[in-house]
Parts: sequence; structure tokens; C-alpha cells
Amino acid sequence: MGIAEFELIERYFSALPGYGRGVDLGIGDDCALLTVPAGQQLAVSIDTLVEGTHFLAGIDAEQLAHRALASCVSDLAAMGATPAWLTLALTLPEADEAWLRLFSQGLAAALQRYGLSLVGGDTTRGHRTLSLQVHGWVPEGQALTRRGAKPGDGIWVSGTLGDAMAGLELLQRQQPSDQVPDPFLLQRFYQPTARIELGQALRGIASAALDISDGLLADLGHLLTPENLGAQIELDRLPYSAAMLAQFDPARAQQWALAGGEDFELCFTVPHANEALLAQKLSGLAVDCRRIGRVCAEPGLVGATGGEMIALSAQGYQHF
Ligand code: ADP
Ligand code: MG
Repeated sequence: MGIAEFELIERYFSALPGYGRGVDLGIGDDCALLTVPAGQQLAVSIDTLVEGTHFLAGIDAEQLAHRALASCVSDLAAMGATPAWLTLALTLPEADEAWLRLFSQGLAAALQRYGLSLVGGDTTRGHRTLSLQVHGWVPEGQALTRRGAKPGDGIWVSGTLGDAMAGLELLQRQQPSDQVPDPFLLQRFYQPTARIELGQALRGIASAALDISDGLLADLGHLLTPENLGAQIELDRLPYSAAMLAQFDPARAQQWALAGGEDFELCFTVPHANEALLAQKLSGLAVDCRRIGRVCAEPGLVGATGGEMIALSAQGYQHF
């Protein structure tokens, strides 16, 4: 690399938020030393993003850092965990200091936003690839897992669905130079919000939960298939943003909501008996949640709209 590795780490990573809770020793030694608070379990998740496969070559490095961290932290949110630490393995084709400066700025802001400390990592040369490992805490035995949905449970989602795909579409579309793509939809793609507070609020209330990374129906399948269960989705209750409805036709919006992915909203099941408690918890949160269907004893996904029933697959509508 153009600048020595230790210098690069010193310049762009050592100064990032790094000495938060539980960090006994951060970046700079052979290992970080970390302490999990008493009574808590460590929740760990790693994601690797390869340029050209998981992110567009040429994407703004500051945006990339934010999106990469938010998508990882979303896994902590889906478990009901509190974010604590990040380790970062960075593979770069060259020591491009302009890129590193932007990336490190974006990462610093995102770390701050989610209360994470960067405690270590690795830096190598090669095809641009980011591996982020997030670590969080969750009170023993209280994590929200993918197992536990029961027939009759409500199926809930947070926020609005399909926005990230709409944002990506706007980003890739040739825009007349005098037209600025909708900033809300772009933001939903670049800076998805990990629903940390919601995940924590759902502990003891939701029977199962995950974050929507691949698309609502595909991810819902991860809650239902292992339990040999199915679901009925009320298609007219899917939550859309005003920006989505203003810019795209309803069929497109629905397809993205069902199968689009990358919104990093939470999908969770709630027993009927817990609904009052849920309403109470939700009233204190910034994000809206909506019941969009119910878990059924029979496997398979069915969409209900205007008294009609439609078979659904993970890709959206099943065409016969
Ligand atoms: P070693 O050769 O002992 O593994 P390294 O030279 O790889 O050490 O790393 C030196 C220190 O810098 C370690 O504490 C490591 O965790 C940290 N580090 C290296 N790369 C990064 C990075 N991209 N982000 C954060 N910390 C990093
Ligand atoms: Mg190393």
C-alpha cells in the first residue's frame, strides 16, 4: 500500500469511537479485551460485502460505511440486542486516502448513531471487500429468535416496505440533470435504520422476529418453514411510504414490499394475548408498526385482497 498499514490504521481507524462500554483494551494490540456485563449474553453476527456483488462500484464511501454498518446492526436489532462492539476486516485494492477519509467519516457517524465501539480489525490488499462483525448484549434467555411463532399469532412489520428497492431504482435510472431523485427513497437505500429500540421493546412480547434483508416473504419463510407453518397476508395492509406511492404504481410498490428486500425493517410475530402490551410499548417508539397478517397452521403463503385469495411465493405473486 502507498502508506504503511499501521499508519493507515492509525490515521483512519484508531481515532474512531473505540472506548465505549465494556472495552478494556481497543485497537492497537494483538487482541481487544472486552467484558460482557453480568447477566447478559453476547450476540455476534458477521456480514461480508463484496464490491460489484453487494454494493455498486463507485458508491460514495461515506454512504457505503453507513449502509454497511446499519445492515449489520440490524441483525442485533432483530435479536433484541444492544449494540456494543465492531470489528472490521477491510480489503482494499489500494490505499486511496480520499476513499479512506470518506469511509472513516461515514463509519464514525454510524458508530456514534448506534452506540458501537470499533475495537479491532484487519487490513489487507485485494478486491474491495468489507467484513463487519458486530457484537451486542442481550439479557440472558431473552433474545428474539426465529423459532417460536404459533398459529394465530399476528404478523407485524415496522416502518414502510419496498423503499430501498425504489431508492436503488432511482439511483440506477438515468436522470435528467435538472431532476434530483427523491431524497427520502435514496436515504432509505443509503442509510437504512436499524430498529434497535424496537427490537429491545419486543423482548418478552414477540414470539419470533427477524430483519427483512431478502424480502418480506422470503424472510417470513425463515420464521414459518422450520415450524411447518404458513401465513395469510392482508395485501391491502402492507405499509408504503408517501414517497413510494407518489413515484411508483401500486403493483410495483406491492411487488417491492413483498419481495424487494434491503429495507432492514423488522418482521415479528405476536400472540394475540400480547397485543395490548405491544400497543403500550409501541406508543413510546418513533417507528410505526402494523399487523399485516396471521400465522396459519397450514404451510404456504396466501395473500388476501378485496375478498380474494392469491397464492404467494417468496418472489411475490405465484403465476400459474
Ligand atoms: P496483527 O498483525 O497483530 O494481527 P494488525 O497489524 O493486523 O495486527 O493490526 C494492528 C491493530 O490494528 C490490531 O489491534 C487490529 O485489531 C487493528 N486493526 C487493523 N485493521 C483494522 C481496521 N481496518 N479497523 C480497525 N482496526 C484495525
Ligand atoms: Mg492482524
